[in-house]
Amino acid sequence: MMNMSKENLFCDLAFEPINGLFPYQPGKPIDELQRELGLKNIIKLASNENPLGPSEKVKKAVHDALGDMSLYPDGNGFYLKKALSEKLGLPSSMITLGNGSNDVLDVIARVFLTTGRECVYSEYSFVVYAIATQSVGATAKVAKSFPVGSAGEYGHDLAAMEQLVGEKTSVIFIANPNNPTGTWIEPDELEGFIKKIPSHVIVVVDEAYGEYLEQKNCVDTTKWLARYPNLIITRTFSKAYGLAGLRIGYAVSHPDIADLLNRVRHPFNVNSLGLVAAEAALNDEAYIDKSRKLNQQGLDQLSVGFKKLGLNYIPSIGNFISVNVGEKAGDIYTKLLHEGVIVRPISAYKMPQHLRVSVGLQSENDVFLSALKRVMQDV
Ligand SMILES: *Cc1c(COP(=O)(O)O)cnc(C)c1O
Repeated sequence: MMNMSKENLFCDLAFEPINGLFPYQPGKPIDELQRELGLKNIIKLASNENPLGPSEKVKKAVHDALGDMSLYPDGNGFYLKKALSEKLGLPSSMITLGNGSNDVLDVIARVFLTTGRECVYSEYSFVVYAIATQSVGATAKVAKSFPVGSAGEYGHDLAAMEQLVGEKTSVIFIANPNNPTGTWIEPDELEGFIKKIPSHVIVVVDEAYGEYLEQKNCVDTTKWLARYPNLIITRTFSKAYGLAGLRIGYAVSHPDIADLLNRVRHPFNVNSLGLVAAEAALNDEAYIDKSRKLNQQGLDQLSVGFKKLGLNYIPSIGNFISVNVGEKAGDIYTKLLHEGVIVRPISAYKMPQHLRVSVGLQSENDVFLSALKRVMQDV
């Protein structure tokens, strides 16, 4: 990353690598667009949130817990860990809770990375890996993805990643499915990769979108933990479970890794409403099924729409899809805002011609596609 913040008065005081960082750019909040343009009926398809909103079970659980707000939450998340432990068939000692899985990724970086150590991840992978790596002074080794135009374009090239693993490598991050590309690595291939990685290198498999996978693609990767003690699997309640606003995610790992992560984690990193909401969401299979089906239909709807507009998109297995709208992507994004549709420009991912669109309700996808059609004629 370039050093752009030299004008900051305190940059000489900061830990040097921090000077090269940029703040994470989130999807534009609905309120902000409302304030800026005075629009009503805004649709946000920018942060891969669940368009169904939280489940009824979650709303009830949160409502019932409101009175506990003046108390500190259970810093160990006993009940949520118990529920996760039962669901996963693994002991609670293997679970680390986080303020979203971002928090867990950051804790992993703080525990295992530092100046002089290296972290391997792929091009076009989740930007938090770069931020977490640089903020602790470690060196990023970024593998080329499969080239544009080839089979699997934009996807992680595991062989290229493996080549970057060296003596200084401490952590490897892999998102499966990956954001913002929506690409996917077959479980056999992924396990074959993990098998080849030396056991002193931590391999993080980030499954933020795992619940969206269809049955045929599903493998319970937590079963791999018995074979690879250096593996960490991270998951979140922000996407399919519909709890992005409550910030809750978790890691599953060898208990000794969990022990280290728990030493660094903030004492009350998950709040009391997040804890009860996640517990209620976890066993609401009907809500997850409904979300998965809606997402599948939405992916089909968007793909068909893009084909009709003659646009190339990256086939996605997540709850979002990145579409190539050409060199005017920035203008198209802005014009879509004026149509009341928020999507996500991904030039920060070095994909300046793509916009990432989260799958919405059928009606929202329709509104987006017609707005896109109008806007594309206009630029
Ligand atoms: C959204 C996302 C996360 C998780 O975000 P949290 O809200 O912090 O749980 C993690 N990894 C990837 C690849 C994501 O896209």
